[in-house]
Amino acid sequence: MSVNQQAHTGPPYGQPQPGYPGFQQPAYGAQTLPAVPQSQYGAYNGPVPGYQQPVPPQGSLRAPPTSGAPPPASGASHPSGHLAYSQFEHGDVQNGIPASAAPMQRPPASQPFLPGSAPTPVSQISTFQQYGPPPASVQQLRNHMAGMTIGSTAASAPPPAGLGYVSGSFSATGSGLHTPYSASQGPPAAGVGPSSYPPSTAAPRPPAMAGPALPGQTVAGPPSSQPNHVSSPPPPPPPSTMAGLHPGPPISGLHGPPPPTHPPQPGYQMQQNGSFGQMRGPQPNYGGAYPGPPNYGSPPGPPPPPKRLDPDSIPSPQLNELPPQQKPRHRIDPDAIPSPIQVIEDDRNNRGSEPFVTGVRGQVPPLVTTNFLVKDQGNASPRYIRCTSYNIPCTSDMAKQSQVPLAAVIKPLAALPPEEALPYLVDHGESGPVRCNRCKAYMCPFMQFIEGGRRFQCCFCSCVTEVPPHYFQHLDHTGKRVDFYDRPELSLGSYEFLATVDYCKNNKFPSPPAFIFMIDVSYNAVKSGLVRLICEELKSLLDYLPREGNMEESAIRVGFVTYNKVLHFYNVKSSLAQPQMMVVSDVADMFVPLLDGFLVNVSESRTVIASLLDQIPEMFADTRETETVFAPVIQAGLEALKAAECAGKLFIFHTSLPIAEAPGKLKNRDDRKLINTDKEKTLFQPQTSFYNNLAKDCVAQGCCVDLFLFPNQYLDVATLGVVPYQTGGSIYKYAYFQLETDQYRFLNDLRRDVQKEVGFDAVMRVRTSTGIRATDFFGAFYMSNTTDVEMAGLDCDKTITVEFKHDDKLSEDSGALLQCALLYTSCAGQRRLRIHNLSLNCCTQLADLYRNCETDTLINYLAKYAYRGVLSSPVKTVRDSLINQCAQILACYRKNCASPSSAGQLILPECMKLLPVYLNCVLKSDVLQPGPEVTTDDRAYIRQLVTSMDVAETNVFFYPRLLPLTKADVDSDSLPAAIRNSEERLSKGDIYLLENGLNIFVWVGVSVQQGLIQNLFGVSSFSQISNALSTLPVLENPFSKKVRSIVDMLQGQRSRYMKLIVVKQEDKLEMLFRHFLVEDKSLSGGASYVDFLCHMHKEIRQLLS
Ligand SMILES: [Zn+2]
Repeated sequence: MSVNQQAHTGPPYGQPQPGYPGFQQPAYGAQTLPAVPQSQYGAYNGPVPGYQQPVPPQGSLRAPPTSGAPPPASGASHPSGHLAYSQFEHGDVQNGIPASAAPMQRPPASQPFLPGSAPTPVSQISTFQQYGPPPASVQQLRNHMAGMTIGSTAASAPPPAGLGYVSGSFSATGSGLHTPYSASQGPPAAGVGPSSYPPSTAAPRPPAMAGPALPGQTVAGPPSSQPNHVSSPPPPPPPSTMAGLHPGPPISGLHGPPPPTHPPQPGYQMQQNGSFGQMRGPQPNYGGAYPGPPNYGSPPGPPPPPKRLDPDSIPSPQLNELPPQQKPRHRIDPDAIPSPIQVIEDDRNNRGSEPFVTGVRGQVPPLVTTNFLVKDQGNASPRYIRCTSYNIPCTSDMAKQSQVPLAAVIKPLAALPPEEALPYLVDHGESGPVRCNRCKAYMCPFMQFIEGGRRFQCCFCSCVTEVPPHYFQHLDHTGKRVDFYDRPELSLGSYEFLATVDYCKNNKFPSPPAFIFMIDVSYNAVKSGLVRLICEELKSLLDYLPREGNMEESAIRVGFVTYNKVLHFYNVKSSLAQPQMMVVSDVADMFVPLLDGFLVNVSESRTVIASLLDQIPEMFADTRETETVFAPVIQAGLEALKAAECAGKLFIFHTSLPIAEAPGKLKNRDDRKLINTDKEKTLFQPQTSFYNNLAKDCVAQGCCVDLFLFPNQYLDVATLGVVPYQTGGSIYKYAYFQLETDQYRFLNDLRRDVQKEVGFDAVMRVRTSTGIRATDFFGAFYMSNTTDVEMAGLDCDKTITVEFKHDDKLSEDSGALLQCALLYTSCAGQRRLRIHNLSLNCCTQLADLYRNCETDTLINYLAKYAYRGVLSSPVKTVRDSLINQCAQILACYRKNCASPSSAGQLILPECMKLLPVYLNCVLKSDVLQPGPEVTTDDRAYIRQLVTSMDVAETNVFFYPRLLPLTKADVDSDSLPAAIRNSEERLSKGDIYLLENGLNIFVWVGVSVQQGLIQNLFGVSSFSQISNALSTLPVLENPFSKKVRSIVDMLQGQRSRYMKLIVVKQEDKLEMLFRHFLVEDKSLSGGASYVDFLCHMHKEIRQLLS
């Protein structure tokens, strides 16, 4: 079989799995989760054609193989005594491309969809953004907002001193009665309305993909050079000049400075505006803690510099050297430089209407901003894997020349829209999955069956392996196995295998995992109402723990710990009338004082747990204890999981720097003076290696840590985050937590975090075909060797970016293959392997590389690369090397791919025309160029967040989405057309929404009609709008409903609940908002898009001269 397999028709599993048991989990509160796969796999029972026989998940028991236990086949079965994780044994992968493989035809560099070849799915995913038409006109706002002053607000409430809490053995006998908590707390209805999340997986999957598949001729079309990112096919030789910068007409601003042989041009002002210079002066006018609540510590400063793009300020120092006819007008029209909005819109129009069928090698998928369905026909969906390029240079020389990083962004457990089928679970019985004898790659659509089907040749290492007798099948006249369409592992890009005991730790099937809730009960936590909030929430949330699809209740057990300077464990055994507390005050050597009764089944111990959760807020209501420990808390959870011999997750709710005497004690070492010095990197590094060692122990046990932080001051996220980060966990931060304004956000995050799909004790290995190999990894995980990515827990939102390097030549005929294998334990304790395969093209022409790149993925990689770089290098060095690499990428294109034209012309590859604007956003981000009000903790937090983001998340994080709400059509479901992130695009008569995945800003212009203000905010004038709003008032009018539905829709698309901030034009909070207008010059010294484009042009010219 050729790698370049043709799209085939109608495999039975393009449809919802017949055995799909349905997602029985009712919506929790008002919240339905985004399509989180809950492991409800239809069973796939071995070599039975079709998938009609669901087998209920067996927990730790395995289903017997339906095909009968095969006799050990010589040389083909697993060696007995397999070590744990034997799938990840090193194989020596050194052979060339399979010699006997049928020559693989090189498909078109990229494949356009032919309209009409498949029915458009009726139901599109409602939660995906839908932009309307592009903005017809842009009103400009030239408001300098002078005279803005920024007040100063005290940050943290000083806690009283004192060590009031005395520990002791305690048998809780409290009445459990307490004043009903404020009405605002309420049942888990929080924040989002039902519409805010996509339909849960409960809904039977509509057969959106069941229609006739794209016929084979889909792949037979003539190669179209640029189906991606453009609205009309450009001429085949691809040097596409930038929109508005065609050769010929004189366009000046982008004519860079002269080559370096000329003396420096004094007129080049880049350094002066701080855009590209070394050091920026403080920006006294930039107020606002990010992303926290108003906390403007800065004194009033001088008015900000004029914000509007002034083309005249763009230096064109070399004008005198240009021939007269090229002397340009002094203007760079912002509309003439590549627009992210336009690119997004074009892709949506060109590629959003047809499913993306994965049957063709090296296809560039639609952009992450395009709403499309995926039909798996042999390659993994782009929801699982996206690449920086789908056409890899054949040689490492070529790769080095282009400087285009070869990387894949992998989200192994990604949630799918309900219209798409989850990966099938394949059970090969006791013999386990069929694998290559040498490199241990798993059976996949690219393996080549030979000798009448008795053996197969590995597509990764060429080794020939016997087909085990139970797996034997005849080949048809094309050499394809006759059961091809019946077996997911032969015809699909993504699928799962049920793992055998060989894949389990200590050769023992795992127990179901446990969740341990560990609540800080120090003064701040109690006083802010947080403890009570958490306890109230848990009472209902515990009924919604993740479970296998058709199980009545979750297999996950739960346990509870509270702590300040000491730890309190609770016995909540079902036979007890009341919970019992046991205190461990010796935190230096943590142990778990009880085994029986600590981890319990929720339904069995429901009464005792409810009683405990009622009592905890009362018990600590009068605490005076302000100090906390932290490491011992993790150690306690780890020890509990060890004792229970299971994996699990710790949910830690923590408020302060752990200064109490204990292992892992920290000191306040925050020092903003280090910014822009060689020591800046220490701000991102942990202050002690203690937590790295602890993380290692946690990973070994499968103990994943999710950390919810509620700081009122510096608490060293860089250090506290080490364990969550390295165990594959998440960090959430709610600075200056206030019950009233922050509880919805926190509760929504908590609910989603507790309920979402997560795999435990996970190990990921990426195999590649000969010629390239995975060399570097970015994400939240731990690595004890150079190949295996280990995660104590891996949830559906976590992404791993993998970089590849050449170690040999690749061939255009064979292409290149990736196979990502994730071994993990499901939430019911079932050991599984999830396999994703992807085939890529290889090229000998640089133009083919540049035609098949994906800038969004490139930015994801570059951001993660840079964000790791700040741990070891000065931030300026990191920024400079980013600029340099991108300049080289673009210079290589200009030199080798673009048609000859004036040297003064900036020519960008079509697929990378947004590289400058997006790169500039990365360079201006808080990690690489912080404003004065960005705290050290914010930077460490953002750095860790971005490292786990997928491509869609980095896209909107670096280039936020800006929607004119007043242009929304209240009668339609669609979103208003997005506009570019520049103040120039804002009109003071309109209201806008800006979202970046962490925040939602609602910006209100000073001249907005009173009626609109009344409808949205329920007040009669602009001045009455409160900027303390954290939600929009619920008002019964079409505009209010429309805006709230937009907000809910956006919230549902993101993995975190975004903080809503209302910003009035000319209000002090506007400084915070303007930070996100990323095409403008930033107050922290970041360049405007136009300035940066000029700078890049200069860099490119220097490289070319
Ligand atoms: Zn192999």
